[in-house]
Amino acid sequence: TPVIEMQNLSFGYGGGTPLLSDMSISLPPGSFHFLTGPSGAGKTTFLRLCYADLLPTAGRMTAFGQDVTELSRDGIAGLRRRVGVVHQDPQFLDHLPLAENIALPLIVSGQPIEKPAIKDLLAWVQLSGHARALPPELSGGERQRAALARAVIMSPDLVLADEPTGNLDWEMSMRLLQLLIELNHSGKAVLIATHDLNLIRAAKAQVQARVLRIAGKKLQLAGA
Ligand code: ADP
Ligand code: ADP
Repeated sequence: TPVIEMQNLSFGYGGGTPLLSDMSISLPPGSFHFLTGPSGAGKTTFLRLCYADLLPTAGRMTAFGQDVTELSRDGIAGLRRRVGVVHQDPQFLDHLPLAENIALPLIVSGQPIEKPAIKDLLAWVQLSGHARALPPELSGGERQRAALARAVIMSPDLVLADEPTGNLDWEMSMRLLQLLIELNHSGKAVLIATHDLNLIRAAKAQVQARVLRIAGKKLQLAGA
């Protein structure tokens, strides 16, 4: 079953003129995709459709085999547990230490907090020394890695990242990319929206990645 499948999907805000039109794509489990396209093309919108934050205005979309327009409230909550999202400008609760911020998805969904698991996750994103730090004390690269840790704490099957390296220097970008590649190697599907062709090139040297492009409201499979 594809993690995401769109068949002739269109979407327009407020049901108005489509921003995304007649898109068909299937993202297999464990696949690695980039999503490119000019600013304003609809990359963030595409990602929001993938976690049912927005619903198609025409056509069909399934997530893990389920039609997103038929999901109950619980069904949507279940879908969100299977999709980890790293937003472009990740927000944290600034008065809570990093470890608690990362554990927040567990708390919100009523799951037990296993401290060793959080410790392992912090170590994995190289933030072990910052467990008690408050989010405003973190650098840009540290914030992105913290956001990635939070995005994967529920062991999602799909990880979405929206311009995750947009504000990072090359070294920090590569550190983040390595983590995303490791997630993919562990079997998760990964979809990264980015403008950064150097990032795509660096990834393609290590993983088989497909590049999707939004242009003129349509989704294309890009070469290069
Ligand atoms: P990208 O991520 O490719 O830069 P976005 O998906 O953020 O593109 O936005 C695509 C277009 O949709 C832009 O013109 C943006 O202004 C518009 N848009 C984004 N969010 C909304 C919204 N909530 N309501 C109305 N228009 C929106
Ligand atoms: P990005 O560069 O990631 O596409 P944007 O600056 O387009 O980000 O959008 C940032 C936030 O503002 C998003 O949550 C988007 O949905 C919202 N947004 C963008 N454009 C509009 C708009 N025209 N009307 C309402 N909300 C918008």
